[in-house]
Amino acid sequence: MVNKITILVVDDITINRVLLKNFWGHEKNYEIIEARTGEAALEILNERKDIDLILLDVIMPGMSGIELLARLKKLDAFMHIPVIVNTQSDEHGYEEEALRLGADDFIYKPYIKGIVKKRVENVLKKSAYDRERTDELTGIYTLAAFYSQTKKMLDMDPETEYAILQINIVKFKVINELFGVIMGDEILIRLAQMLKQAVGTEGTYGRMEADHFVCCIPISKMAKPSEFSAIMEEGTAELENKYGLTIHGGIYIARDRTLPVTAMCDRAVMACRNTNNNMVKRYSYYDEEEGERYLKEQLLIRDMKKALAKGQFYIEMQPIFDTKTKMPVSAEALVRWMHPEKGFISPGVFIPLFERSGLISRLDAYVWEEVCRVLARFKKEGVPLCPVSVNASRVDFCESDLLYRINTLTEKYGLEKKLLKVEVTESAYTQNPQEIIKQVVDLRKEGYDVLMDDFGSGYSSLNTLRELPVNILKIDMKFMNQLEDSRRAASIVLCIVKMAKMLGMKTVAEGVETKNQVEFLRNIGCDSIQGYFFSRPIKPEELQKMLETYYKNAGDEKEEDKVGILVVDDQRMARMTLKDALGKEYRYFEAANGEQALEILHENAFAIDLVITDVVMPRMDGITLLQEIKANPVFMGIPVVVVTASEGSADEFHALEMGATELIRKPFDFHVVKRRIKNVLKIAENEWLKEEVWNMKQNEAIRQ
Ligand code: C2E
Ligand code: CA
Ligand code: CA
Repeated sequence: MVNKITILVVDDITINRVLLKNFWGHEKNYEIIEARTGEAALEILNERKDIDLILLDVIMPGMSGIELLARLKKLDAFMHIPVIVNTQSDEHGYEEEALRLGADDFIYKPYIKGIVKKRVENVLKKSAYDRERTDELTGIYTLAAFYSQTKKMLDMDPETEYAILQINIVKFKVINELFGVIMGDEILIRLAQMLKQAVGTEGTYGRMEADHFVCCIPISKMAKPSEFSAIMEEGTAELENKYGLTIHGGIYIARDRTLPVTAMCDRAVMACRNTNNNMVKRYSYYDEEEGERYLKEQLLIRDMKKALAKGQFYIEMQPIFDTKTKMPVSAEALVRWMHPEKGFISPGVFIPLFERSGLISRLDAYVWEEVCRVLARFKKEGVPLCPVSVNASRVDFCESDLLYRINTLTEKYGLEKKLLKVEVTESAYTQNPQEIIKQVVDLRKEGYDVLMDDFGSGYSSLNTLRELPVNILKIDMKFMNQLEDSRRAASIVLCIVKMAKMLGMKTVAEGVETKNQVEFLRNIGCDSIQGYFFSRPIKPEELQKMLETYYKNAGDEKEEDKVGILVVDDQRMARMTLKDALGKEYRYFEAANGEQALEILHENAFAIDLVITDVVMPRMDGITLLQEIKANPVFMGIPVVVVTASEGSADEFHALEMGATELIRKPFDFHVVKRRIKNVLKIAENEWLKEEVWNMKQNEAIRQ
């Protein structure tokens, strides 16, 4: 049904009113109401809220048409009702006056039916359009109207510098809940009035949404002191004091006129976000640099959608090496983006963007499938296989079909579940623990290894470890570059590795770049190592070659793989004799006294599995050296064999008391020496084993 249109005819002459009324005589959707005077018209308007248009005679006794028009346009309730003024064709003076006051059109007497009806129709149409453009609650422009008005204004006045100011109420939702919607509306209306009053005819203003308002005015009018700033300050203070709220905003100086008004407003909104955590500053300016970055990000996100289809992403694999055997035992897949214009883009740059935009799961799905494809190819070509771990973002873990997605892939490519591992970051866990625990449990039950990435980088690593049933820990790379200068970092890594062992987990150290780091890690029993020291991330074909070479030469033993023995004696001959006695199966380090020995231990500690020391030496004797070794947490596990001069001497007794593992006597009996050293190394290995067994039992106990 068409809405009924109500027209109020105001004229002191009855015949005129009747004439006009008759023009719509038979049309049901028009209702014509009559008023004989201006006063009567006001009464009717106050009573009936449904008047759509007023046909107003200019000359009337009492309140004239011009007077009535002036009054209506000042009253909020009536100012939007369109008015058509009726004049004699020779009353031109009134025309101008009526226009100035806000009349919408004229009709001349004598009335001609066709013309009158057409004019009314046009004005009604225009007013409907205006209604659409005004915000119902506050009566100011809607966002769309604001955009178009502002564009017009800026186009017409290219010389003037304009600013866009966006303002809103901090936590308006809370205020609505606290005071109720009626009060909330009142605040919004008041805010709109303030803006209207402050901007006036100097610029444009409108309501963006909810409690967000926007205006555009010349910078010169905005800069203090100005009427604009005075009204805004006063109005804001009044609102803030009365309702206990905070108003803040963002400003964008519209220097770049090629930008659409929508983008200008976005920038003002962005600037406003900077005030969010800043209770002192009411308004912030848009920061060009930050804005540029934001725009670039948006462009990258846009490009990414195309990039997937165009195959601009590819994977590299970084091999992970066994700490003891130095063989590649697994690899991590890392995504790369070769952008057609921007060139190589680091995942450190685009991964966070994709996470925020939710696009990451699609990228990850692509990476996982690539990995499976590579593994399936290796398998087909008989390449020695190693498991590959893939990164899963927090977004992947929040979707409930993670296991299904992974299962689908391994099945499609015919891969055993041990071949695909999943890395989850600690930070993902802190954000959504319950969901992630469930997903990890499911993956583990199904037979997939799950790694905790960047372990130790978060705030509550231990807590995470307690709750998340991952089975491999990846020690964050930030510990590695601190290892050498910070004893604390070294102690922490040592503890992480021990703790992981107690919990039955394997450890991987990430970001390992130096030999010293490798040896430290070997010494403390970290299982595997990933880092530039062994290999950067490489193409899958290169990994293939690497696996083939390594596993072909698997039999050859390298010097570094041998058991290391530190021989400490001030007599060079004695050291030579000992080395001869023990043979080529060991790797030797030599020192002429205790001090030198400690130095060598510090540098190569991690390659040394046994120390053989003479007792009597200059600078530092063997017993003191023994004490030093047993007092240092990193060295204390290394067995020490003490060389004495005679059986049953005080030295022997002393050495055993200090923790020596075995004694040998000068002059050396080759067979005895060889045998004893072998035994000591066996015992050391057994100790290690015993510790492992004990740990496993502890684990069982914890689980039950
Ligand atoms: P991440 O998972 O911690 O990956 C290890 C990062 O350390 C990689 O950087 C790797 O190239 C780098 N790296 C390896 N060894 C060393 C070293 O010895 N020294 C130094 N300084 N760095 C080393 P990349 O490739 O730039 O990846 C950065 C991050 O991007 C990754 O950190 C991961 O969080 C994310 N990422 C990479 N690929 C993917 C993916 O396919 N999916 C998801 N969701 N994230 C990915
Ligand atoms: Ca990773
Ligand atoms: Ca990592």
